[in-house]
Amino acid sequence: MGDIKKLVRENILKLTPYSCARDEFNGTSGVFMDANENPFGSLNRYPDPYQKEVKSVIARFRGIAEENIFLGNGSDEIIDLCFRIFCNPGIDKAMTFTPTYGMYEVSASVNDVKVIKIPLNDNFQIDIGKAETFLADKNLKLIFICSPNNPTGNSMDYADVEHIISEFNGIVVIDEAYIDFSEKPSFMKLLSKYPNLIIMQTFSKALGLAAARIGMAFSNPEIIHYFNKVKPPYNISTINQKAALRKLENQEEYQSQVVLIKAERERLAGILKSLNITETVYPSDANFLLVKVKNADYIYNTLIDKNIIIRNRSSVIENCVRITVGSPDENKKLINALKSFQI
Ligand code: PMP
Repeated sequence: MGDIKKLVRENILKLTPYSCARDEFNGTSGVFMDANENPFGSLNRYPDPYQKEVKSVIARFRGIAEENIFLGNGSDEIIDLCFRIFCNPGIDKAMTFTPTYGMYEVSASVNDVKVIKIPLNDNFQIDIGKAETFLADKNLKLIFICSPNNPTGNSMDYADVEHIISEFNGIVVIDEAYIDFSEKPSFMKLLSKYPNLIIMQTFSKALGLAAARIGMAFSNPEIIHYFNKVKPPYNISTINQKAALRKLENQEEYQSQVVLIKAERERLAGILKSLNITETVYPSDANFLLVKVKNADYIYNTLIDKNIIIRNRSSVIENCVRITVGSPDENKKLINALKSFQI
């Protein structure tokens, strides 16, 4: 793996980042007359642009140094920043393993970056042979690996992923949005071995703060430096930083929710398997189930009529729906509705 600097776009290397008032003085008390804020009120001051307090708590939570952490306005902002830092529009390329989370491709299109899509194999695993034929392409800058993968629910094989990271001269982004629901190990321990690795996690899933829009990127300090250089100055609001702190102060609550969701996932999978509308319930390491049914359009539309909303994924995997595991009460409503179906 070569120099990270060589992978960064020329204009980003040369960029003089915006210097905000809080970059120059970041003490917490004083007479603040530097940022053109209104002196009255409780939310009148700009937030900490580098979210230091939140990062110190995340550092303990995930066992990683603060200098290895970047926070984005959801993982979606981090995905976009990866394109803006590493991919020259109209020239560079990214790789994804499909079907997968749709924002990699949308963000690529917004940034005028071509995507090489490698279909997952029959076990929803990476087809290493197919991927390898593209790894030497000098314009391939980013590879996105989603594990556990949305919408298939499975984790990617550890050795396959490490093989890709070690063979590739560009940046590998592993999206671990659903990692807390998985029994398989996180790829976090590879961070110290591979400087070209970025791992994303989020407050939106197990941590239950989708409304707060906080995504985490873990990587080496050099890559974190480029994220900070390119991001909008105040990308995480004070309200949302406080929500993240409160969430991590009370980890027992989120941990017990994860235990319950995992138990409900297995219970729901068992019941779904017994229904005559079901063909296959795929194993899941996430908080959703991918289910092959006899007629996905019919099931999706009939559930909508009953005010139960699932995701019809038949456009990407034939006759498949993706069902998010709900509360025990919500799951009961879904099961009762499905039991009443006749196809
Ligand atoms: N990654 C994956 C795999 C997802 O499924 C999603 C949202 N469904 C996200 C990232 C988006 O996360 P965030 O809310 O942090 O932007």
